[in-house]
Amino acid sequence: MPPVPATAAPAPATLEARAVSAWFGNHQVLSRVSLTMPAGQVTALIGPSGCGKSTFLRTLNRMHEMIPAAQFGGEVLFEGEDIYDPSWRLTDARRRIGMVFQKPNPFPAMSIYDNVVAGLRLTGTRASRRTKDELVEESLTRAGLWKEVRDRLRQPGGVLSGGQQQRLCIARALAVRPRVLLMDEPCSALDPTSTRRVEETIQELAGQVTVVIVTHNMQQAARVSHQCAFFLAEQGTPGGIVEHGPTENIFGTPKDQRTADYVAGRF
Ligand code: ADP
Ligand code: MG
Repeated sequence: MPPVPATAAPAPATLEARAVSAWFGNHQVLSRVSLTMPAGQVTALIGPSGCGKSTFLRTLNRMHEMIPAAQFGGEVLFEGEDIYDPSWRLTDARRRIGMVFQKPNPFPAMSIYDNVVAGLRLTGTRASRRTKDELVEESLTRAGLWKEVRDRLRQPGGVLSGGQQQRLCIARALAVRPRVLLMDEPCSALDPTSTRRVEETIQELAGQVTVVIVTHNMQQAARVSHQCAFFLAEQGTPGGIVEHGPTENIFGTPKDQRTADYVAGRF
């Protein structure tokens, strides 16, 4: 198992999907999706339900391999290296490319401290006690939660509010110092105030880590992202990207009428 380096968190990485396709059995849900997610930027994936956003996000760190019947085609390049190359193990992908889900899923009976440290175990990373203490503080700080929990690290994660639990999950993902963070509707289960706090955390993470976020909240996409990709699966066809580009262009001067309609809330 690789030791955690004692140095500062590594630089964000560029992720590039090339002609990514995905199937569940015979059902093709993505067709040749290509998208570059530049280092240190926040990329928002938007589009109606069922168009393949979550599936696409999962292919970016091989999370879909946990779903039986899921099949993949294409390439995902992490700083130019294909994460599907046999030289990449699943744990390499998980450690470099972290993930946060829609529903906050800390281990409720486990302490706040151990929840953060669990990120290391999940990816097979070992660390000394002192390194763990440092990583817990660093990760909770980066997730915007340190000040709220520093005096109660031994309390169970389940005592926190929903929004705090989500930031705890962000801290758990950050503990392995990933260079990319994938977030699948991280605020959908949160109230507006908690949503705002998570958005602030995302804004602070930009530059330190590459963020790819799925969101149905257009104001959120406009607030936190540098670029947006609009996904659509038109009747009977697999999902794909209709249009992508700088966020201000997608919202201000969309090129495709379907993008204009979607961002204006017309479907
Ligand atoms: P989105 O996140 O944009 O709502 P998803 O990626 O979840 O879309 O789903 C895309 C398509 O793949 C949908 O038709 C959905 O029913 C199908 N799908 C998603 N997950 C699975 C699964 N585990 N097994 C079979 N089909 C799935
Ligand atoms: Mg989804």
